[in-house]
Amino acid sequence: MEREALLSHLVHPGDRAPAPGALELVQAFVNTVDREHGPDLLDDDAGLEDWLERRMLPADLAPGDRERARAVREALRAVLLANNGEPRDPAAQDALERAARRARLEPAFPPDGATLVPRADGVDAALGRILATAFTAMLDGSWARLKACPRDVCGWAFYDRSTNASATWCSMRVCGGRVKAGAYYRRRRAADH
Ligand SMILES: [Zn+2]
Repeated sequence: MEREALLSHLVHPGDRAPAPGALELVQAFVNTVDREHGPDLLDDDAGLEDWLERRMLPADLAPGDRERARAVREALRAVLLANNGEPRDPAAQDALERAARRARLEPAFPPDGATLVPRADGVDAALGRILATAFTAMLDGSWARLKACPRDVCGWAFYDRSTNASATWCSMRVCGGRVKAGAYYRRRRAADH
């Protein structure tokens, strides 16, 4: 995928529509890498800075920020894989809770609705905004439809709009078709029956 496509988050396998409302921020963050073909925006500080700028979360990077951002991104991906029927990863929960503490997320009660606000600065605050968005989606139920594609080289985050929330692959044609004959599909079918 082109770097610009990762920055804009306008290109989606299977022509799926992005996640609704604010949840698209979380999806876009998980999708800052094309794991199969590259690039990974978090391979260098400029990539993360550019992405944060586009998302109106501008921050100057300090040492260690990018590594922490990557850890949060991959923890979110693990949770989205669990939304898709993969085993839960307790380390992912720890990573998200650690990042939330670092962001110093605090409840706020403005007239337009209760929310969590990061009291930290810089990248920690930007990560806090992403985590606060995920938190809200977990409460309103929209979270369960945000899934990561289980093909090992893919992991793309997609929003499942199917009637029964039964979609597995980011794209039936790309990922679904490639693994259908393989071991993953047999294991998955065995688990379903
Ligand atoms: Zn996929």
